Amino acid sequence: MSEDIPKTQKAVVYASDAGKIEYKEIPVPTPGPNELLIHVKYTGVCHTDIDAWRGDWPLPTEKPLVGGHEGAGVVVGMGRDVQYWNIGDYAGIKWLYSCCMQCEFCEEMAEPNCPHAVLSGYTHNGSFQQYAVADATQAARIPKGVDLAEAAPILCAGVTAYTALKTTGVIAGQWVGISGAGGGLGSVAVQYAKAMGFRVLGIDSGEKKDYVTNDLGVDAFIDFTTEKDVVAAVKNATDGGPHGVINVSTSNTAINQSTEYVRTLGVVVLVGLPAGSKVVASVFDSVVRSIQIRGSYVGNRRDTAEALDFFARGLVKCPIKIGKLRDVEEVFKLMEAGKINGRYVLDTSK
Ligand code: NAD
Ligand code: ZN
Ligand code: ZN
Repeated sequence: MSEDIPKTQKAVVYASDAGKIEYKEIPVPTPGPNELLIHVKYTGVCHTDIDAWRGDWPLPTEKPLVGGHEGAGVVVGMGRDVQYWNIGDYAGIKWLYSCCMQCEFCEEMAEPNCPHAVLSGYTHNGSFQQYAVADATQAARIPKGVDLAEAAPILCAGVTAYTALKTTGVIAGQWVGISGAGGGLGSVAVQYAKAMGFRVLGIDSGEKKDYVTNDLGVDAFIDFTTEKDVVAAVKNATDGGPHGVINVSTSNTAINQSTEYVRTLGVVVLVGLPAGSKVVASVFDSVVRSIQIRGSYVGNRRDTAEALDFFARGLVKCPIKIGKLRDVEEVFKLMEAGKINGRYVLDTSK
């Protein structure tokens, strides 16, 4: 063990579905045989954390629960079977805590789709704590020397956005639409898309227009709050519709619109998970224009390594605001009101 590890620590615990969010002292976990003990320095807050707290998806959570799944920190301990990790390595806690590695989906590296997937901050205590355990096989390897506060959002927002962009099949020079461009996933998605050579159309509220246009630098922007005909405006701005769209907003309406404005032969990727939503697309239009509608769910270990590599090379920088671990509930409120540009990252020492 590299440092004195305390017996107890501060954590943010959801007592029950949509129940009290408590900032309290809990025991520091002991790593199992193939687990790392990570001193979490920073954790991002993802919109998914709100759904995990509420328990509003058709996948049950385990409560009481320590939330969070974007934890960046340092390895301070490990179980007896752990190989190829060293004390002092930078490591990340991501959504997929572990999977079986034996089913047909794991064999195809579709690890998040494993029926035995265990999820950080959902069915397993996550990163809203100072010390967390992570499965040594799935823990993200964060390159040494990077800023851990900025690395934290890459572990979910970055990996998910990057994988979704690959799922569109868009190639350099073509248009990609990013619906929800000013949020956590959207902000990094814009940068991955630019690094991949795509032309980028961002859609978000007028409040985020300056941020998305000037700070993130999209090629075109549509304000969904004032635009009367979003579908026509998107088609117009992209000369016939984007070749691919990633839906990283939390709006069912926006998802349905994307099936209409995507270019003929284009690919609509579903990422955002507004509870209870259904995609409604015209069958006639989908057939005659031969569009594809696909889901994309975080990413596997390779996607994670690639997403972190873009970040470590300085091609993607998550715009973050740093708060304190105890701020989780406050950040949830700001996020639901659509008031956060980029990501809120929490310093676990405060
Ligand atoms: P966020 O709250 O940071 O961002 C959402 C953005 O969508 C905000 O900027 C908001 O202004 C914008 N928005 C709202 N309504 C819109 C509309 N009608 N048109 C365009 N933009 C609109 O959330 P986030 O953390 O980036 O997460 C986004 C979604 O992705 C959530 O539903 C989350 O649960 C989901 N998610 C999915 C995966 C996956 O693997 N598929 C992974 C992580 C997060
Ligand atoms: Zn997430
Ligand atoms: Zn499996």
